Formats: sequence, structure tokens, C-alpha cells
Amino acid sequence: MTVYSGPVFEMARTQFNVIGDHLDIPLDERDRLLLPKRALTISCPIHRDDGTVAVFEGYRVQHHLTLGPTKGGTRFSPTVDIGEIAALAIWMSWKCALVGLPYGGAKGGVNVDLSKISKHELELVSRRYMQEMIPFVGPHIDVMAPDMGTNEQVMAWFMDTYSMYQGRTVTEIVTGKPVSSGGTLGRREATGRGVAHLARRVMNELRIDANNATAVVQGFGNVGSYAALELHRFGLKVIAVSDHTGALHDPRGLDVPALMRHAASHGSIKGFSSELQFDPAQVLTLKCDVLVPAALERVIDAKIAQHLRCRILAEGANGPTTPDADLVLEKRKDEIFVIPDILCNSGGVVVSYFEWVQDLQQLFWEEEEVTRREYQILDRAFELMLARARADRIAHRTAAMAIGVAKVRAAKNTRGLFP
Ligand code: NAD
Repeated sequence: MTVYSGPVFEMARTQFNVIGDHLDIPLDERDRLLLPKRALTISCPIHRDDGTVAVFEGYRVQHHLTLGPTKGGTRFSPTVDIGEIAALAIWMSWKCALVGLPYGGAKGGVNVDLSKISKHELELVSRRYMQEMIPFVGPHIDVMAPDMGTNEQVMAWFMDTYSMYQGRTVTEIVTGKPVSSGGTLGRREATGRGVAHLARRVMNELRIDANNATAVVQGFGNVGSYAALELHRFGLKVIAVSDHTGALHDPRGLDVPALMRHAASHGSIKGFSSELQFDPAQVLTLKCDVLVPAALERVIDAKIAQHLRCRILAEGANGPTTPDADLVLEKRKDEIFVIPDILCNSGGVVVSYFEWVQDLQQLFWEEEEVTRREYQILDRAFELMLARARADRIAHRTAAMAIGVAKVRAAKNTRGLFP
């Protein structure tokens, strides 16, 4: 019996068992590696603008404390539950270990529909969530960051709430803050930039000329918009993007900087162009060189995997591809090059780590240094993954996860049962 359930958690478990088999991990060791160390469920009551009281359920899952504090984003969405948050925390653990960060994985979330609350109510939910988390988190215990539905402003409210309780400013309690409040240069762009950087590396491997290449991006939030912008800067035509309001398609290439300005002022891509509107259900299967899913998990199932027409699948989102889809991709003769999520979107946590380090030292870096070091870490992890996949003749996801799981396992085995 476990409280963790649901399709996203089952996906994390299935993936883990593939790795467990590959690494020959004995069955009695698996639960200890997979199941989270701790989980917290809270209620966030707020006074709504109309004077009524509403209660939102919130969660935080800390997967393991073996390598250092836990680290992970906080998601505000009407569909989050404890199983989804646990899966995301587990993936964070394999990700941090793969890229060599001194963290375990964590994740948090509030079950809230952002389209149904005001900005003032969002501030109350954010502050109340952090208030309830205070006994559970800390700069050397668990460090939060943004995820779907949260942003720099929410991180600033988290930091301020924690700091007021401590009686001093504790910038290192969260990452992804505004630069004016202890954030680092290059964090806002970090995840999308990392996705585009790795996609470009693979294009070089496959001898695809960026100036004749096309990209499609699902999701135009933090990750998707900066990935699209960077790919556009590299010379690719971004022929389609989508978000929760719809999709746009232009075979000549979208004006990504203009679209970003529109999304920043309107909150979505809606209203950018009536001529370029497109069926969002067809976005993932458009023919392109680089496909970037950067929204929800489980969007590429076995059926969609059969119909993908990209050459590179650069997973910006966490968990966009189901285990059934992985099996389809492994069998496809045309070999789509998958850059698995735990590597592809790891630029976000890498630069979050830089932000934490800078806050602890009160010594801040130039943006050029942040990005150079980010790419250095991503390149090293990419090479490790590729060498492992080629040596063991395994899928890229299996290789990336095997490296991460093996590191956590080795640390657990040398330390003992507690952490
Ligand atoms: P965000 O809230 O900034 O953006 C999410 C985007 O997805 C929005 O454009 C939204 O409209 C879109 N979207 C929602 N439902 C959709 C649908 N049905 N179809 C198409 N688009 C839809 O979130 P984000 O921070 O960009 O996170 C996106 C993904 O990347 C998540 O899986 C997240 O866990 C992952 N991720 C984020 C970071 C980070 O640094 N923010 C780091 C690593 C991974």
C-alpha cells in the first residue's frame, strides 16, 4: 500500500523498474530507492476577494536526502495530486544525480486553477503555501523553484514569507527569483536555452544544417518560449507553437521574438494572428527536424509516437513520453534521436544550483559565466549518456536514468538505511 498513485506515478515506477532490471537491482532494494523519504499535504485557506474563504490543497515531496538538500519546483495547477508530485520529485533525483548536483529531488504543488483566481488571491495562496512549508524546508533542507504555473513573482513571495518568519532575508531558500531579489542572471532563460543547446549538439551529430531546419514547440511558457527563441536565433524556422489557448502554424517560420512580446503582455499566444491558427491536436505530429514538447506530461503516447515526424525529440517538459511510447520509438526504423527529459531540461536545475551557490556566497556572476558553465555541465552529461547508450546498446532514456539511479544507489549503499 502506498499513498502514491495515478498515471504519472505509475509511469515513474515503470521507468524505474526498467532501470532496476538493467542494473540488476535486487527487488528488496527497489522500494528504498523509489519511494519518497517524506511527503507533506497541507491546506492553504485564504480570504477571497469577495470575502468568502477558500481552501486549496498543497503538497511537497522530498524524495531522498542522501546527497544533500532536496531541490525542486512548485507547480500550481488544477490537476496536481500527490502521485504526480512524487513522480516529479523522483525524476528530479535522477536528473540531479545525472548532471552531478549535490541534491536529492523534491517537488511541490498546489491544486489551484489560476484562471479562476485574481493576482491578489495568487499572492495569498503563494504566501500561505510557504508559511505552511516553513517547518519542512530550509536552505540546507529543501530548496524550491518555479515550475508550471509559478514564476519569479511567486518565488519572490515565497522568499519574502520565509524571510519574514526568520527575521532576516534568506534569499537562498528558493531559486528562480527575480534578479532584483537575489536571483541569478540567466535563470529565466536557463531551461529553454539548455534544451536548444542540446538540440543543436544533436543537429551537429546528425549533420542537420540549422539554417535549413525546422522546429515545433508545444507549450509557450518559460521553457517553451525560451527554447523557441534560442532555436530561432540558431537559424531554425519555428514553424508551429501551441499553448493551452491554441496553436499557430506558419511554414515560413513564426516571428518568435514578436510572439514572445505578445505572450508576455497577453499571458498566452491567443490573439497573435487569426490567419496562422492551427489545430493543437496536430502540432506534435507535424514534420520537423526538432520537436520540443514543453508543456504537460504524457502527451506522447504509443499512438502519437507512431506518427511523430521529427528527427530529434528534445524533451523540455518533464515526462512528456510514456513508457509505451518509448517502446514504439525504440522499434522505429527511422530512429528519432531522443534527448530525454532528465537531461534535456536539466539546464533549469543546473542554473538554480548556481543561484543557490551565489546566494550562499553573496558573490554574483556575469550572465556569460552562468551560461558557459551551464553548457559545460550539459555537454558532460550528454557525452556520458551517449557513451553509455552506445556501449550498452540501450535507449537514451535508459542510459540517462541508469547513470542517475546508479549514483543515488551507490551513495545510499555506502551511507546506510537512514538518508
Ligand atoms: P509554464 O507554466 O511557464 O508554461 C506552461 C506552458 O504550457 C504554457 O504556455 C501553457 O499554456 C502550456 N500548456 C498548458 N496546457 C497545454 C496544452 N494542453 N497544450 C499545449 N500547451 C499547454 O511552465 P514551464 O515552467 O514552462 O514548464 C513546462 C514544463 O517544463 C513542465 O513539464 C515543467 O515541469 C518542465 N520544466 C520546467 C522547468 C523550469 O525551469 N521552469 C525546468 C525543468 C522542467
